[in-house]
Amino acid sequence: MLQPLYSLLQKNTSWEWGAKQAKAFQQAKQKLLKSDFLTHYDLKKPILGPKEGVPTLAAAQIQRWSLILSAYQYNLEYTSGVSNKEADLLSRLPIPVKVVYPNELNYAIDRCEQLPVTAQDIAKELQRDSIRQVYEYTLRVWKPNVSTQLLPYARQADELTMKTGAYCGKIIPPKFRDAVLQEIHEGHIGLCRMKSLTRSFVWWTRLDQDVEEVVKTCAACQSIRNKPADVMSHPWIYPDAPWTRLHVDFAEFKEKQYRVVIDAFTKWPEVHELGIHATTTQTVEALRRSFSCHGIPQRLVSDNGPQFVAREFQDS
Ligand SMILES: [Zn+2]
Repeated sequence: MLQPLYSLLQKNTSWEWGAKQAKAFQQAKQKLLKSDFLTHYDLKKPILGPKEGVPTLAAAQIQRWSLILSAYQYNLEYTSGVSNKEADLLSRLPIPVKVVYPNELNYAIDRCEQLPVTAQDIAKELQRDSIRQVYEYTLRVWKPNVSTQLLPYARQADELTMKTGAYCGKIIPPKFRDAVLQEIHEGHIGLCRMKSLTRSFVWWTRLDQDVEEVVKTCAACQSIRNKPADVMSHPWIYPDAPWTRLHVDFAEFKEKQYRVVIDAFTKWPEVHELGIHATTTQTVEALRRSFSCHGIPQRLVSDNGPQFVAREFQDS
């Protein structure tokens, strides 16, 4: 019925609206108005629900909802539009709350008794120190515009101020920095671990550089620097079927190169002689022979040797 209309959309066809098209348009319009094309929405018919399967022709949105909801036990309830009051932006804006800051600075250094300085020492020193402002701002509130000197501290303001209203004294005044670093350095744990450990307890500007300085000049820390991390051996999972995963490698025997393919499931070996130098073309050709015999595997595992990573191989 719609063919005259569709034909207008074809390539290399000029758009000509004739009697045929007009007729098709009118016919389609009449059909759409009749009940065999349009049905009234029936509330009782299930579309989406905890026990209903989603029809394959359902809208993508419905399918996504169904997929997300399938993780839960749920009931669907019909709410009429009038009583379905969604929260809008304005109803979610926070109302102003007066924040009351405690008068007393409550240092909450985690495990501060393990550090060579006490919380009181730090508090006292901070008041005397040039970064006294940090102490005061942390106690009250950080202003948006602070001097360049305090900028690095302002960036850490969230970390310095703890949720509960108590204050985390991670800042260590210059006077105690050496002592703190020496204490954390005791175990000679190397650069990376020392950095993360230090950062979890204390903070000051240039902390990372100071840690690097300590580790760089320590022979014990340097000795563990190049120790490679322990590697967990990763066994290949046994495949479900023959010729799904192949392992390919080269072997040399009596000055001749062989390409060896082993099927992980059956352990069936395929060995092809390649000549003195195994080239990529030869490798591809040999693999083609195997694949044409037994089919194409799902995975081919190699050691990334030059023959396997060559463009020719990747393209084949
Ligand atoms: Zn060390």
